[in-house]
Formats: sequence, C-alpha cells, structure tokens
Amino acid sequence: MNATTEKRIALISVHGDPAIEIGKEEAGGQNVYVRQVGEALARLGWQVDMFTRKVSAEQETIVQHSENCRTIRFQAGSLEFVPRDNLFEYLPEFIDKFLQFQRENGITYELVHTNYWLSSWVGMQLKKIQGCKQVHTYHSLGAVKYNTIETIPVIASKRLAVEKQVLETAETIVATSPQEKQHMRSLVSTKGNIDIIPCGTDIQQFGSIDRQAARAKLGIEPDAKVVLYVGRFDPRKGIETVVRAVGASKLRESQKLQLIIGGGSTPGNSDGIERDRIEGIINELGMNDITTLPGRLCQKVLPTYYAAADVCVVPSHYEPFGLVAIEAMASGTPVVASDVGGLQFTVVPEETGLLAPPQDVPAFTDAIDRILMNQEWRDELGKAARERVIGKFSWDGVASQLSELYTQLLEQPVTPPVVQTLKQTLVKPTVKTAVEPTKQPALLS
Ligand code: UDP
Repeated sequence: MNATTEKRIALISVHGDPAIEIGKEEAGGQNVYVRQVGEALARLGWQVDMFTRKVSAEQETIVQHSENCRTIRFQAGSLEFVPRDNLFEYLPEFIDKFLQFQRENGITYELVHTNYWLSSWVGMQLKKIQGCKQVHTYHSLGAVKYNTIETIPVIASKRLAVEKQVLETAETIVATSPQEKQHMRSLVSTKGNIDIIPCGTDIQQFGSIDRQAARAKLGIEPDAKVVLYVGRFDPRKGIETVVRAVGASKLRESQKLQLIIGGGSTPGNSDGIERDRIEGIINELGMNDITTLPGRLCQKVLPTYYAAADVCVVPSHYEPFGLVAIEAMASGTPVVASDVGGLQFTVVPEETGLLAPPQDVPAFTDAIDRILMNQEWRDELGKAARERVIGKFSWDGVASQLSELYTQLLEQPVTPPVVQTLKQTLVKPTVKTAVEPTKQPALLS
C-alpha cells in the first residue's frame, strides 16, 4: 500500500446502481449490498468510489453519499436501461471510461471489488491493464441459476466461462455463505481463494419499532395474523408459493389472516407481468379481501412492515444470500424460507424460523401455520432471530471483515500488469466460449 492510494477502494457494480431506488425490476440485494458496504467502509476510513452504468440522461454523474463515499456513473452504450443479459457488449466502453476517470482524477486504484459476473470481467481486464488486485462477490452463480430456470439465455456460456475464470484468478472471492462457497467448489472450480464474509443489515433501523406501534402506523388490528413477503416480482422469488400457502392456511376462515406482498413493479416490464400473474392467482383463490400489495416499500418504511408482521416468508427457488430474511430477523420477526442456499445459513430451523422445500406449498402452509398458531413461540423465535443478526450480520461487522481483507491484500506485493494497454487486452479476448453467444465486445480505438 503506498501513501497516495492508502485505504482507497473501487467497488464496481456495472448493472446494480448503488444510488437508485431499491425494489424495482433488477434492483435488489446487490444494489443494497454495494451501497451499504460502501458507506460502512467509508465510516472505517476508506475512500470509497462506487462505479456503475448510467441509464438515463436525468441521472447525476456523481452522487456523493458521505464525505468519503460516492457513486460515479459512466455512460456505456446509449442512455437507457439495458437488461443485464444484454450488457456484456458495453463493458469495453465502461472500462475505457474508468481509465479516463482515473487519468482525469490522478487516481490509480490498486484494489477493485467487483460485483456480479459482468463486473468481474471488467475487473479482470483492469487487472491485466494496471496490475490491480481483485476481490469479487458473485451475488448469483450462473451454474446454480441455470438449473432453476427454463429458458437459458444466449449469454449463458460466456457467463459460465467468466465465472470460472474470475474464481481462478481473483486474489479473493467473497462467498456470502458457506452454501455459496460449496456451490463454487462443486459447480465452478476447485481452484482459487474463497473467503466467507456474509451480507449484512442495518441493525439500528431494522428493530427500531415494536409490533404494536408498527401496526398502529399501518392501520393493522393488534390481533391480526400477518404474513409478509418483501422483494422483487420475479418468478424465481416464488411469490406464487406464499400466495397458495396462505390460501391453504388453517387460519384462512378467520377474518384476521392477512397477506402483504411488498415490492415494486412497472407495467409492461417483466416484473409487471409477474405482478399481473400473481394478482391472477390471488383472484383465482378468492384472496382479494385478505391480500394487500402496497407496491415498492422504501427503506424508511420497511422496518415498520417487518415489525408489524407475525411471520416473513422468503419462498425463493434459489437465494445465494437473501437480505430480506435478515432484515425481517433483525426486526424481531421469524422467517419461513425455502431450504436453499444462503437461507440455510441465516435461518436456523426451530430457533429463528422454519425452512421448507422450495415450491412445496403444503410444507409452507404447515410452517406458516405452526408459527401463526403459537404466539409465544413466535415471539421466542423472533427474539432469537434478532440476536442472531446482531451477532453475525451487521453492516459494520461485515465492513470490518472486508476492511481487514482489503488491508491484507494491499500489503501484498503488486503483480506487474500482463498487458500495457486496453486495446491489447481486448484484441486478445481471454474468455473462450463453446459457442459464440453474443457479439464480441466492440474493440476500442
Ligand atoms: N427491497 C426494498 N423495497 C421493496 C422490495 C425490496 O427496499 O419494495 C429491498 C429489500 O429490503 C432487500 C433487497 O431489496 O434489501 C432485496 O434483496 P434480496 O437479497 O432479498 O433479493 P434480490 O433482490 O437481491 O434477489
């Protein structure tokens, strides 16, 4: 670590803008992770620059979050939202803008922490160009995701190859749960360094209001039985499972059962289509009178919803970590979750909530009913849930583990860059794919 770059970190999140509204299409856990990690690292004295892609002319180029923490947006391709599966071809332009930014500001980042496979490719090229060190968090693994969806996108083979390459070449991969690490080893590669550092949550904000006050604020009866879902409208989130499970609940006849489905959607977009589908199921099951869909819940109002609920359900088909589970737990609310991925790490069955096989409606109904029908046990689970989050999953705790990792890496000797110019890097693509799924990135002049 030299004097000029001491405690400076670039967090790269090409498609997950840390400065935008959370809860809409494609904006979820990764955006929250990058923003929260960035702000917590800044509190620990790091100079944090978070890089993302600008999606409209109205967006500010630089958003200052705190004295040492800012989001910097680069135009790569046209100024519009591009789904992540179509973003690869714009990455060389993103790298070009990054290098230009460094030149103009007299900064060379010795360490980059990349997020999601697209940004990992950016990090691998920067590593070759300027010999920087790379830490990477996957947020989602293609090898796992493609097992859970029916239509495999054309970009799949490229993504799998990039994910293998970054695991084998980055200084450190951050797995957010032991389950994610195990998947990397069994499905991606046995080579490469993996550290487990979980995701975190704001333990002051979540848990700041008690159930009575939260219900009074939201106009919910004190004796209602409230089941809550929070998250994006995406078929893989399994909202259908929670709707059908609540529909089959033994408490269904009671007027007091309520289902709240929180999350934003945009008509015509893929999340709008999923919302329409879910509303269709609610209609079909005659659940209109017990279900509310309040739309996107901002981070300010979320603690109130979690606190008001008797149980929060996370029915995802797969989840590498699952922030919603720990947010609910931090709020003293037990979680019923799918028995998959990071949820097996955060939720301790019979202690902080219950796990059920994904998409298994009867198992979810049974788990939800067990909690709703025993208030005393529900409260014990909720208390243990909050304690677990305080002990293991606070952002400050997560950031100090990352800070330690970064410091160790910066103290290690620098490897000289493999190539000198970006042009050379891109002329010799490092990733070979079985089939050529998309246009190769355009070469920079
Ligand atoms: N979220 C939100 N408002 C909403 C829905 C979701 O702020 O209306 C937030 C939620 O609190 C969590 C994140 O979006 O912090 C979702 O992260 P998670 O890891 O659960 O799922 P992902 O979206 O990454 O698949």
